[in-house]
Amino acid sequence: MPRTPHRFLFALLLGLAQACGETPSPAPETPSADAAPPPNVLIFLVDTLRADHLGCYGYEKDTSPNIDAFAKEGTLYEFAWAAASSTSPSHGSIFTSTYPRVHGVWNRTLDQKGEPIFPRLADKAETMAESFQNAGYATVAITDGGNVTESRGFAQGFDHFDSGFSGVRNRVTTAKAWLEKRNEEQPFFMFLHTYQVHTPYIPESEFVEKFADPDYQGKYRTAWEGALEFSEKNQVKNAIRVIQQRFYKKHHPKEGEGAPDSEDLNFLISLYDAEIGLTDAVFGDLVAWMKEQELWENTVILVTSDHGEEFWEHGQYGHHQVYDHTLHVPFLVRTPNGVGGLRRPDNIELLDLMPSLLELCGIPIPNSVMGRALNFQSALPPQEDTQNVIGETNWPEEQMAFRTGKNKAMLFPNSNRRPEAYLLETDPGEHKNRVGTPTGQAFLKQVIETLETWRKLCADTRAEYGLAPAIRNIRQLSPERLAELQALGYVEW
Ligand SMILES: [Zn+2]
Repeated sequence: MPRTPHRFLFALLLGLAQACGETPSPAPETPSADAAPPPNVLIFLVDTLRADHLGCYGYEKDTSPNIDAFAKEGTLYEFAWAAASSTSPSHGSIFTSTYPRVHGVWNRTLDQKGEPIFPRLADKAETMAESFQNAGYATVAITDGGNVTESRGFAQGFDHFDSGFSGVRNRVTTAKAWLEKRNEEQPFFMFLHTYQVHTPYIPESEFVEKFADPDYQGKYRTAWEGALEFSEKNQVKNAIRVIQQRFYKKHHPKEGEGAPDSEDLNFLISLYDAEIGLTDAVFGDLVAWMKEQELWENTVILVTSDHGEEFWEHGQYGHHQVYDHTLHVPFLVRTPNGVGGLRRPDNIELLDLMPSLLELCGIPIPNSVMGRALNFQSALPPQEDTQNVIGETNWPEEQMAFRTGKNKAMLFPNSNRRPEAYLLETDPGEHKNRVGTPTGQAFLKQVIETLETWRKLCADTRAEYGLAPAIRNIRQLSPERLAELQALGYVEW
């Protein structure tokens, strides 16, 4: 008897089967001989891009004219959540449609001796790329390296995996070169990833001039000028870490000191915006080129990110917390012959990306998938949005975020930190913690109960589909150390 797909079980367990707004669909039919050719798929993932810094998500600066124009040709999801606030776990969730605690590909974690472990996606995981590959697609990933590498198991299912930190211009040039040489008889699935807006910021002058205060001569201008000059003259390994350490890190306030002075902070944010502006310009060029090449008509294009970035709104810089600055990501999709200009106000997750694309292309969805197949061409959810979405991180401590409608809760299971609850409709910045109020308490109780069920479902999913991650470099380990790691649950290789 076939197993029930996990995405349906998940909806039923959380009482959402009637309310989630998307219905399970039957298996795709075999296409007839005269059916339209299957669409190509391009995912353009801008690492560390928070949604609220794009014009089409309400940002006051003109960072994203090309992405805004693209939004008018397809559907924009106003509230898409990343499954994690850092790169590897979020990509693991995008590629497998399972939560981070299921696939276990955290950026890093610690063993019992406190030594770092670098997990790798289980070979048994059924990835989105494998599904496209099995369906006859040519599959290609072009990534900026870092934590989106073969060593993390992310090359599974890709015919071609090109990975290395080189910025958005280089990555898009590489993508075009691959597209020019492809077999035109075969549809393609392309995953295109860039760290361009991730630290360290090295945008070109023309974009900095567009967004920064020209009179600012403080420490972050010095840092940016040094970083730009260095990156133009040198090709270094681990460039992200090297440039960050050499030029920026010394200028950031120490932990617990709070945000930099407002002039410094504004310039730093304008550097981030300049990186977005640069990325947007390159994306605009790519769209124009695809139209010239007649690749536009039959290609599904999806623009998103793996997590956002925090600028000390809650005391920290980077993406180590689970406030919305970090979890709320852009999600825009354009489908062949689709209607343009749709905006969806309901909650979705990056876990929904894989089943949605597979269903759209008529490809079977693996049973291990936990996300929902969204109908990208549906203008409005049929009823009130009660979809639960969940985000988490393991570093520097376990943090959970849960959202239903406009209600959000944050939990810190392994520390003394008290839970937090926010009503995002009136408090989008998450500054009025409602956990001490009767309604806040009632909501928190409901969240804790739901997450208990969810944790069990996650553990069952990992066990049923053999998704416990492997350990990077495990072959070099002694039998004793291997046994230790196996005891921690890292058993698959
Ligand atoms: Zn990332």
